[in-house]
Amino acid sequence: MYNIYFELAATGFTAILLLYLHIEYPKASENNKIYRQWVAWILAGQIVDVIASRMTDYGYMIPPILNILVNTVYFMVTAGCFFCLVRYLHSLVKGRFSDFYIRFLKVLCVIYVAFLIVNIFTGWLFTFDETGTYVHGPVYFLIYVLQILVIFMSIVLLLSYRKKLEKRQLAAIWLFMLIIVAGFVLQAGLFPKTLLVFYNFALAAMTVLFVMETPDYVKLTAALKDAAEQRKRADAANQAKSNFLANMSHEIRTPMNAIIGLDEMILREADRPKVRKFALDIRSAGNTLLSIINDILDLSKIESGKMELVPVEYDFSSVLNDIVNMTMKKAQEKGLTYELEVDPDIPSVLYGDEIRIRQIILNLTNNAIKYTAEGSVHVAVLWRKEDSRLIVSVRDTGMGIRPEDLDRLFSSFQRLDETKNRNIEGTGLGLNITKQLAEMMGGEVTVESVYGEGSCFTASMEQKVVCDTPIGDYTKHLEEAQSKNEEFRPQLVAPNARILIVDDNEMNLEVITELMRETEMKIRTAISGKECIAELEKNEFDLVFLDQMMPELSGTDTLKLLKQRHLCDNIPVIVLTADAIVGARDSYVKAGFTDYLSKPVMYPQLEEILMKYIDPSLILTQEQIEAEKNERAKEAEKDKPKVLVICDSTEKLNQAKALITDAYKGVFVKDEAQAEKYLKKHEVAFVIRDFKGEE
Ligand code: ADP
Repeated sequence: MYNIYFELAATGFTAILLLYLHIEYPKASENNKIYRQWVAWILAGQIVDVIASRMTDYGYMIPPILNILVNTVYFMVTAGCFFCLVRYLHSLVKGRFSDFYIRFLKVLCVIYVAFLIVNIFTGWLFTFDETGTYVHGPVYFLIYVLQILVIFMSIVLLLSYRKKLEKRQLAAIWLFMLIIVAGFVLQAGLFPKTLLVFYNFALAAMTVLFVMETPDYVKLTAALKDAAEQRKRADAANQAKSNFLANMSHEIRTPMNAIIGLDEMILREADRPKVRKFALDIRSAGNTLLSIINDILDLSKIESGKMELVPVEYDFSSVLNDIVNMTMKKAQEKGLTYELEVDPDIPSVLYGDEIRIRQIILNLTNNAIKYTAEGSVHVAVLWRKEDSRLIVSVRDTGMGIRPEDLDRLFSSFQRLDETKNRNIEGTGLGLNITKQLAEMMGGEVTVESVYGEGSCFTASMEQKVVCDTPIGDYTKHLEEAQSKNEEFRPQLVAPNARILIVDDNEMNLEVITELMRETEMKIRTAISGKECIAELEKNEFDLVFLDQMMPELSGTDTLKLLKQRHLCDNIPVIVLTADAIVGARDSYVKAGFTDYLSKPVMYPQLEEILMKYIDPSLILTQEQIEAEKNERAKEAEKDKPKVLVICDSTEKLNQAKALITDAYKGVFVKDEAQAEKYLKKHEVAFVIRDFKGEE
């Protein structure tokens, strides 16, 4: 007697499962429909299997043809069940290859069914004798060909398309395949009298149900997939936007170089106050534009995850000097009290990204000044030794921030209180960048504010200590630094220094040449990498400025060729680039450049580079400059045309002296006799006789 109890239990369960799916989730996805069909075939298989086994048990009481027919139906249902299994797998992976499988399997199923029908008449596969015993036919083994083929095909299908499936899907499918195979092995090998094949099929269907085909799970995965897709699209769009901003900003910096540089020329040359005022306005607007572009560049770097900190050893008091220099005057001009409180225990030399530290403190201080109409701005810098952090608090008595606006404060492009702030310049990027930079340094930015009374922004940044000697009384440092600033700054003059400037943009060449005019250096220019090489082959130079962005040979390519040909072995080569990105310097130095000068080129930075890299013996000392000036003045004096003035009183003499312009040299005599004497020995442009003066 066959043991049918497992199978019976599974039949009940499978029927309930189907009913539940049908009632609870009448709508099904394409996959789920095929899954339900598969479960329906399993249910049919279970029913037929129970009937067939019971009929075999009582075979002696039943005509053999009936048993043959029931078993034929059983094998047909098995075929349907296997076919549905592969269709289900195919619906999960869908591919050209798997389409072919399905077609192939259909043909196979038709042949299989045909064979089963032929078997009813021939008994080639199986038959039943008069006693109701099951008898194997001559090609009995063919009855299992379909099943074995299907299992083999399913394995190949899964292996070929495993990348299309999620890990948990794949795990569930392998598990259900294992359960199905186990059903066969157990029944065929160990327990031939226990019906396990369809029982295991039910177990497999259950595994699939819980992991992949619960309708809620299906909905969830569809939603997740959709969300992932949307996110991918949004990320791509965001990346495109960041790239666009970075490129645009880069492109804008190049013409800005010309604008700010040429404006500097106007400032140097212009005497008329109105023109100077216009030029100063251009300078200020240009600088504002540059800082906006820098903010956009920073933001796009942060958003694309490319922002990197460049830690260096730095002197903290020099960072403070810069901040005070850049903010104190602004606050005082607005009539605000500027208070600075510096913890004397801050270590004098720290290790961290100096430029970004300065940017954070500057941003908070500038905001405090910007958004405060009257009262004070208090900047306090503390050192928290326990966790090695710089704490900067900037407190103001400004307009404050509404509690409901605090959440939006650090979002990019968000400006608050727009009506009040309409006249205050800003983009709403600064605080976002500040916060992200502080976070990159293991710190944070917090804010406390009372609307209408003022705000206090606090930033913390982790920094390593290089030298723990405390900076001490900073105000003393500050006074020293300020008095140094007020000291006379020696002028850079080096008439014997030979400089080569290479840039494909003639306007830039003109700007830098003009900026350097007063250094009196011997300047040559080249408009391409090729020309640069030719110049260095022909002439000797003490320093080369080499633009990076040039058509054909870029700065880096040109440098490579120069190095190969040993044309710049002892010559500093400074790269000129609009990449104002922090970290750019390091990459250029790695590429072999001596240093880096960012565009738009400003005179102070340019002078700093020249001072640093030009052989000091070429730079004139202050005394030499003075001596040269005197010499030139004398020469000029000698060459001036002379005017001989005859005037008989001291009063007239003084008046005549005042009248003669710098273009002439005045020679003054009392009377005609003296005049005649002078004219015999010297040449004069003209003589003024009878000078009346103002009576
Ligand atoms: P921006 O100043 O360029 O507009 P920020 O990101 O620096 O951009 O600041 C965002 C907004 O936060 C500002 O527009 C302003 O409304 C508000 N804010 C920033 N600092 C202060 C402050 N100290 N007092 C009042 N409001 C401030």
